[in-house]
Amino acid sequence: MIEPAKSPLLTLSDGNVIPQVGLGVYKVENEIAGPLVSKALQVGYRLIDTASMYLNESGVGQGIVDSGVPREEIFVATKFWMDDLGYSNTLRAFEKSLGLLGLEYLDFYLIHWPAPKRGLLYVESWLAMERLKNEGLVRSIGVSNFHSHHLDQILKVAEHTPVLNQVELHPLLTQESLMSYHASHSILTQAWSPLARGQILSNELVNSIAKIHNRSASQIVLRWHIQRGVSVIPKSTSRERIIENMNVFDFVLTSDEMNAISALNVNYRTGVDPEDRN
Ligand code: NDP
Repeated sequence: MIEPAKSPLLTLSDGNVIPQVGLGVYKVENEIAGPLVSKALQVGYRLIDTASMYLNESGVGQGIVDSGVPREEIFVATKFWMDDLGYSNTLRAFEKSLGLLGLEYLDFYLIHWPAPKRGLLYVESWLAMERLKNEGLVRSIGVSNFHSHHLDQILKVAEHTPVLNQVELHPLLTQESLMSYHASHSILTQAWSPLARGQILSNELVNSIAKIHNRSASQIVLRWHIQRGVSVIPKSTSRERIIENMNVFDFVLTSDEMNAISALNVNYRTGVDPEDRN
């Protein structure tokens, strides 16, 4: 029996904490999400990242129940889709997600995309999210796929700064300037597609570093994120790979290795630029 691994916790600007490594469940069907989440919680995961758009929130909720892990030990993050931007839509979307998850509160609620061609609806949504936080229904509120100028709009009106921004981030898209913006506003950078949807795993440099450390390519890339202070939510449907992805806290990359991996950046996106997603 493999000893369950646990992720360190990072402290957020609102005083709450978040496990640095979590499980993402994008493209995991609802029927599979339950057993997957339950398995992940049993092997030591404590952060689960879903979204209304993934259509698997009820499966995630079932997995939480089936895992036997106490609710208060688990961090659940979900997001609302662009069609629910705006103040009252956001409140409605929240109620729906909470119901599907079968929870009484959320740990993290995120705006999925800013959809800037729809104007400043995302700012109205932010005000609704602040209300949810103030009412104790969400512990921490954040955003996803925001460029710094979208964050600027929120910061102009915010009572609560977003605790994190979940963005596409991996060695082919290192997001240096956005990360410095985050650092200057105490916003945690969280990486989606931290493995570039698997596309970075055959990279020659990553594999040569993996050989040196006797680790997998995935562990090297995740370790690179960890040492940059980033939170990661890799997705895998395999029990072995889920365990492998959590076992990244007992080795260290050298600064030369870190720099070499960062130098793979070509500003390549596996997904859409947030500016164009509407
Ligand atoms: P990832 O970068 O996590 O890559 C997932 C792919 O890598 C899958 O094909 C998986 O295959 C494979 N993989 C995972 N671990 C290993 C391993 N140890 N060895 C070999 N292959 C591995 O991509 P995602 O796009 O899924 O991103 C992760 C999460 O980020 C999502 O699930 C979602 O929660 C979030 N996300 C958020 C977005 C947003 O707009 N906010 C957009 C996209 C994602 P297998 O399952 O077969 O192991």
